[in-house]
Amino acid sequence: MNKVLITGGTGLVGSMVKGDIKLGSKDADLRDFNQVKAIFEKYKPTKVVHLAARVGGVGGNIKAKGEFYFDNIMINTNILEACRIYNVEKTLSFLSTCIFPDNVEYPLTEDKIHLGAPHLSNYGYAYAKRMLDVQSYVYNDQYDMNCISVIPTNIFGPNDNFNIENGHVIPSLIHKCYLAKQNNTPFIVWGSGKPLREFIYSEDIGKLTNWALENYNSVDPIILSTSHEVSIKFVVGLIVNAFNFKGDVIFDTSLPEGQFRKPADNSKLKSYLPNFKFTSIEEGILKTVKWFIKNYQTARK
Ligand code: NAP
Ligand code: GDP
Repeated sequence: MNKVLITGGTGLVGSMVKGDIKLGSKDADLRDFNQVKAIFEKYKPTKVVHLAARVGGVGGNIKAKGEFYFDNIMINTNILEACRIYNVEKTLSFLSTCIFPDNVEYPLTEDKIHLGAPHLSNYGYAYAKRMLDVQSYVYNDQYDMNCISVIPTNIFGPNDNFNIENGHVIPSLIHKCYLAKQNNTPFIVWGSGKPLREFIYSEDIGKLTNWALENYNSVDPIILSTSHEVSIKFVVGLIVNAFNFKGDVIFDTSLPEGQFRKPADNSKLKSYLPNFKFTSIEEGILKTVKWFIKNYQTARK
């Protein structure tokens, strides 16, 4: 019988993925191999969806490159090694389009991960995550393990980290717009608003992850993307409308601008799931803003 263990099961993505055991950091610190082994001995999973990571937006990544490197390289190394020791049948790991080279021909495709240095803003996170791809390949090669990986773009939705300093752009902006409306203060956006991103709603990521765990069996990663780029300014407009915010919106170019764009090619995904219906960014933002207002007291922020 299958027993699916989800690491990072309490997070943004973890709350949308199907599994029998959902772990959070209170269950074990996955940077510690002894704690990881104890978890595998206790639950004896047959499949592992590995989501746990030190995750942050451009602000968090710029400030704590060492921590992002250490936490992620330890967590990933430990989880795949435990999957090997405890004979887990299949592992599904999460990479990110943030880990691609900064200077590379667009669009990003699955074969370009290692073709150059990542953007300096997320150097620690990116190199640690790239090693997860390397570890998947070499464990597949030497031990014949079924290690698969997905590469999502910028994910958002309920249960996100809405922290203003460390969160990703959509949850941070939702939190800031909420406070600006409450306090009658300007809504401050980092940078010019010109950078472009591809956003994907967490519920869609949940469905695609469940599909990949059942159906995708190659060690070559697969990009999970809408391939629909929007500017940060456009996203700001959607958030302002969702809150019916009437105050000033300020684009502060002294604050981090991040990478200009990282468009990702979803052709491989489309070849498997030509009819997959993505949630529109308009609908996703409306749902997330509603969720944040309703859960303001308990939301991660
Ligand atoms: P998240 O909401 O921040 O959740 C992170 C999860 O990891 C939480 O369950 C957290 O546990 C757990 N965790 C963190 N450090 C841990 C540790 N030392 N030991 C045990 N558990 C630990 O992140 P997410 O956005 O769902 O991300 C899931 C995966 O998708 C990650 O691998 C991330 O790199 C990848 N990804 C995310 C995005 C995005 O835009 N969010 C984009 C591309 C890829 P607690 O909450 O209980 O502390
Ligand atoms: P990235 O997609 O990995 O670069 O990470 P983010 O989700 O943090 O998005 C960063 C982009 O959003 C940059 O272009 C920032 O200038 C822009 N941005 C605008 N306001 C904010 C904000 O309040 N927080 C964050 N994290 N980014 C912001």
